[in-house]
Amino acid sequence: MTKKLYFDDVMQTKFTAEVTKTLRDERGFGVILSETLFYPTSGGQAHDTGVIADSQVLDVVIQDDGHIIHYLDKEISPGSYPAKINWARRFENMQHHTAQHILSAAFWQEFALETISSHISYETPSTIDFDVDKLSPEQISRAEEIANAIVFENHTVKTYFVNDKNAVPFRRPPKVDGEIRVIEIEGFDYSACGGTHTPQTGMVGLLKIVKSERINQKTRIHFVAGWQALRFLRGIQSAAQETAGLLAVGIAEMPESVARLQEQHKEVERELKTLRQMQLDAEAERIAQFAEPIGEKWLVTKVFENRDVGELRNLALRLRQYPLMVALLGSYDGKKLSFITVCAENTELNASELLKDHLAPYGGRGGGDASVAQGGCTTDDIEALFQHTKEMVRNS
Ligand SMILES: [Zn+2]
Repeated sequence: MTKKLYFDDVMQTKFTAEVTKTLRDERGFGVILSETLFYPTSGGQAHDTGVIADSQVLDVVIQDDGHIIHYLDKEISPGSYPAKINWARRFENMQHHTAQHILSAAFWQEFALETISSHISYETPSTIDFDVDKLSPEQISRAEEIANAIVFENHTVKTYFVNDKNAVPFRRPPKVDGEIRVIEIEGFDYSACGGTHTPQTGMVGLLKIVKSERINQKTRIHFVAGWQALRFLRGIQSAAQETAGLLAVGIAEMPESVARLQEQHKEVERELKTLRQMQLDAEAERIAQFAEPIGEKWLVTKVFENRDVGELRNLALRLRQYPLMVALLGSYDGKKLSFITVCAENTELNASELLKDHLAPYGGRGGGDASVAQGGCTTDDIEALFQHTKEMVRNS
């Protein structure tokens, strides 16, 4: 069993690593030390990184027998080496781990909500899960206020061992018997925990809940503390300032300004839609004037380059309003011809059958009903296709 030096002094960063054993497994090359400052991934807290001699510690894992394996990027032999943990990473994990105890205790004391799991991260917001469907914004604000008050009052965080789990009033009594490590936030909370915590609550720094979400039947809160809270606020401030600059208003006026822009945008879209419809009406009228008379019917065949098929359909439906009109409108993208056929009611022609008849020689696909049909095929002889249309209309 490896002796955990981080239990004795959580602020210590350097030590002499006595490598007693080396090994190689699927995770890579690992060393076991007689004692270590490197915290292994456990209890929702990520492992430490750092160096042993000039090898980087990439991962730290605790085994069931209590041995802690340090996985390195470069092999070293048994012996004594100077070792150092990555303090910036560890300290931020300590800030978030202590913040988690404080927040969990705040939700418990104020709302009797028990923490069912947690995840501590120095990089992304840490999380706490509660066995409840929903948390109200008021509950979140209240817990945040209690937690920050505990930080600002700078309570001492004590760690010690007890052999009897009834010896201290645990917030969540441990399930195991025997020696239990207690984290006591003086005058506020008792927890059983093997993680690393700041010696004073003041070292946690500002504590902010940044998100709450429902996951299955539970509610997860995301929070930041200390240095990560500073980075988070800088990110928000810079995004807010940039947005305010684009809107040419102050940060506080942003919501009103965006709401006004959205309203204007909707108005412009409504106008644009009306204009587009008027434009299509005019285009249909122009095309209809040049329709070719075939017997009693009128025929329009027209192909456009890369025209939106939805728009083409709207144009075709307008042409269908003209008595005795048959129209075949296409859009050609250089390879594929998409087209729409429409037949006015009194033509006694069926748009779907007309389409199928056109597609058959080219192996194209499509469908519709008697009044309008839509399809596509690959052809480079559009003239032949239109000639065929003419014959069909003539013979109908
Ligand atoms: Zn803890």
